Amino acid sequence: MDDLLVIGGGMAGLSAALVAQRAGLQVTLLEQAEAFSEVGAGIQLGPNAVRVLHDWGLLPALREVAAFPERLAVRDARSGAQLGGLTLGAAMQQRYGQPYATIHRADLHQILLRQLQGSSQVDCRLRQRLQAFEQDADGIRLQTEDGSRYQASALLGCDGLWSRVRGQLLADGAPIFSGDLAYRGLVPMADLPPELRRNQVTAWLAPGLHAVHYPVRAGAAMNVIVVVEGPIPPDPESWDHAAQASQLRRALGSVHGDFDRLLQAVPDWRLWPLNARAPMRGPHEHAQGRVALLGDAAHPTRPYLAQGAAMALEDAWTLGRLLAQPDWRHGAAGQGIAWPGLLQTLARKRWRRNAWIQQRSRRNGQIFHAAGPLRWGRDLGMALLGESLVDLPELYRGPPAP
Ligand SMILES: Cc1cc2nc3c(=O)[nH]c(=O)nc-3n(C[C@H](O)[C@H](O)[C@H](O)COP(=O)(O)OP(=O)(O)OC[C@H]3O[C@@H](n4cnc5c(N)ncnc54)[C@H](O)[C@@H]3O)c2cc1C
Repeated sequence: MDDLLVIGGGMAGLSAALVAQRAGLQVTLLEQAEAFSEVGAGIQLGPNAVRVLHDWGLLPALREVAAFPERLAVRDARSGAQLGGLTLGAAMQQRYGQPYATIHRADLHQILLRQLQGSSQVDCRLRQRLQAFEQDADGIRLQTEDGSRYQASALLGCDGLWSRVRGQLLADGAPIFSGDLAYRGLVPMADLPPELRRNQVTAWLAPGLHAVHYPVRAGAAMNVIVVVEGPIPPDPESWDHAAQASQLRRALGSVHGDFDRLLQAVPDWRLWPLNARAPMRGPHEHAQGRVALLGDAAHPTRPYLAQGAAMALEDAWTLGRLLAQPDWRHGAAGQGIAWPGLLQTLARKRWRRNAWIQQRSRRNGQIFHAAGPLRWGRDLGMALLGESLVDLPELYRGPPAP
């Protein structure tokens, strides 16, 4: 049986382990944390991400814990004016064959983890922090910080933004602070004023800032993200900072009453400095030899298209589709998987779409935060062009078949 090492137990690592397991591989997944858990709050899943989960038979599990908003509404954060929007719900299902979902990260993580637990083919090891690896024509050898050694035929670096696998494979430096700070909070729906308990995604825009909120936990809670421009906090590598509501209030200034009431209801803010990299420049940033990078390790992105986790799911889905093709099943020597060829194909299939999403996400941030003529053009465009300006068929019809 062919064997695979996966570094990292986030969305990318769990998804990659899932498709490898289903392809009959023996998988060892190494996670540095003490326990499998997901920090953070909600994520949006466009029809492209839901299509992946549907293909893996996970739609029933998603339906139990996700929310399926009826509408995306875009409003001016200061005046409250409706700037534009997009009908989600049944319209999205009809147009793309899959719904638009919003979910707590921990719930999606659990759905994926449950597929791996108890499997004799997947060995998930906690407290295993990758130190270094080496590859040659025969395979991979790696060592973790506690001195444990592993070997396998191939290695997937799913170790996120600060990926060590990437550091060794590409040696292209650390991600760069984007200049944006994301404050995230979760409010029990029952604690919100009735007029704010809506099954919709709401985006608030103003120069230099934006906010998004949507239901999670099957509608039992509202996830709130507020992004403001600001200086880098003292510990940029930390994913999770306790944040002061007063700092956020100062950065926001005066906002519309609906938005203000929502902010007041958030019991606890957590602060994420947003880091990113330039869009991918070629397939070499996805895979080299027997090593591939998936998810944020390969293409960390600003969250303004709400597609980071979706890209991780799409990467793993594409890997699963390739593993199912008989072409790769017998290497040149007539045994095992021809990993370098398979991973190169994965890289060639994925990098352009991932680069495009990274680039669009960055551009979206500029549009959301626009002041002056760009802001004026944005608002006029939404008023004149309506839903077509917000809809993203090329994205939501994905992932493209390999
Ligand atoms: C504010 C914000 C909002 C977002 N909203 C959305 C959204 O609406 N929709 C969406 O699709 N995406 C969204 N995203 C993006 C999404 O959260 C990420 O793209 C996604 O979680 C990346 O998953 P990953 O598995 O690649 O990385 P991670 O989730 O970072 O997982 C990496 C894992 O690797 C482990 N690890 C790291 N180093 C090592 C090592 N040396 N050895 C062993 N283990 C290691 C870590 O402990 C971690 O468990 C958002 C992100 C932010 C910041």
